[in-house]
Amino acid sequence: MNPPTPVPSPSPRTTTRPWITCVVPAYNEAEGIAEFLHALGLHLAGLSERFDVIVVDDGSSDRTSEVVLAQPGPVRLLTLSRNFGKEAAISAGLAEADGEVVVILDADFQHPFPVIDEFIHHWQLGYDMVYAVRRERDTDSRLRRRLSRLFYQILGSMSSIQIPEDAGDFRLLDRKVVLAMRQLPESNRFMKGLYAWVGFRSIGIAFTIEERRASSSKFNFLKLLDLATTGLTSFSNLPLRLWVGVGSLISVCSILYALDILVETLIFGNPLAGWATLVVAVTFLGGVQLLSIGILGEYLARIFNEVKRRPNYLIADKHGFPKE
Ligand code: UDP
Ligand code: MG
Repeated sequence: MNPPTPVPSPSPRTTTRPWITCVVPAYNEAEGIAEFLHALGLHLAGLSERFDVIVVDDGSSDRTSEVVLAQPGPVRLLTLSRNFGKEAAISAGLAEADGEVVVILDADFQHPFPVIDEFIHHWQLGYDMVYAVRRERDTDSRLRRRLSRLFYQILGSMSSIQIPEDAGDFRLLDRKVVLAMRQLPESNRFMKGLYAWVGFRSIGIAFTIEERRASSSKFNFLKLLDLATTGLTSFSNLPLRLWVGVGSLISVCSILYALDILVETLIFGNPLAGWATLVVAVTFLGGVQLLSIGILGEYLARIFNEVKRRPNYLIADKHGFPKE
C-alpha cells in the first residue's frame, strides 16, 4: 500500500537547529541502554544546542532505571508502575515531551541515528511528521515477515485511513502533532494507526533496520497477535458488518434449498434428503454463529475496556522533571 499522499508544497521552516526531545521506551534494556544513551547524546549534540531524552522504563524487572539515572547529560526518566506495553510507554513519553520536534526511537540501536538527520531535514522542508519505512525486514523471521504483510493487506483493505506498511514508531513528530496525539483518549492504543489518523503533512523515508545490539526482542507471537487484533478492531468496523452480508447469503441459499426440496418432494415425489445434509447444515451454521459471536466479543471486550476509563499507564517515578 502507498504511504499517505503528502499535502502539496509544505512551506519550509526557518529554524535549522530545533529543540529535539527523544522519547525512548525501554523494557529490560539495562544491558545496552548506557551505551545507547551515550551514543545518542553525542549524535544529538551535533544536531542541536538544545535536546533532551526521555526514557520511559516500562516496568522493567532489571536495572534499567538505575542505569539510566547514572547517565550524564539531559536524560530524564519516567518509570511506569508495571509493564504496560510499548504503545503505552510511548504515550507516557509523548505526554511529557516538550521539544519543538519529538523523535521516537527504540533503545536497542535498531534505529540508526543518521536517519534522525534526515527527519530534521524533512521537517525543515515543512513536513509535520516524518516516519521511517523499513527497506527490508531481514532481521525478522520469514514467518513474521509474511504475517506482517498479510496483516497490513487485511488492514489496508478494511480500514478507511491509510496506514503505511513497514512504518513503525521510529519517527519525528512536530510539536503540533504531539499535541494532537495527546488528545486521543482511547485505551486500545495502536500507535501506527493513531499516527495515520491524526493526519498532518507526513512523509515516509526509507531506512535499513539494524540488528539488535543487546538482549533480545521483547515481542513474542502472542503480543504481536494481540497488537494486530487491536489494530484491526480500532481502525475498522468491517468485521462487524461482514456478518450482515454472510447472514443474508446463507439465508438466500437456505430459501433456495427449501424450494428445491419442496419441488423434489411435491412434483417428482422423491423421498426427503438424508441426515448427512442436515448434519452438515447444522454444524456449518453453528460454526458461522460462533465465529460471528466471537468477533462481536472482540469488539465488546474493547468497548468494556474503553468504558472503564482506566488510565493507559501509571507513573511510579519521575526523574529530571520539574516538581509538580
Ligand atoms: N518495549 C517496551 N515495552 C514492552 C516491549 C518493548 O517499552 O513491553 C520497548 C523495548 O525496550 C524497545 C522497543 O520497545 O526499546 C522495541 O522493542 P523490541 O526491540 O523488543 O521489539 P522489536 O524491535 O523486536 O519489534
Ligand atoms: Mg528492537
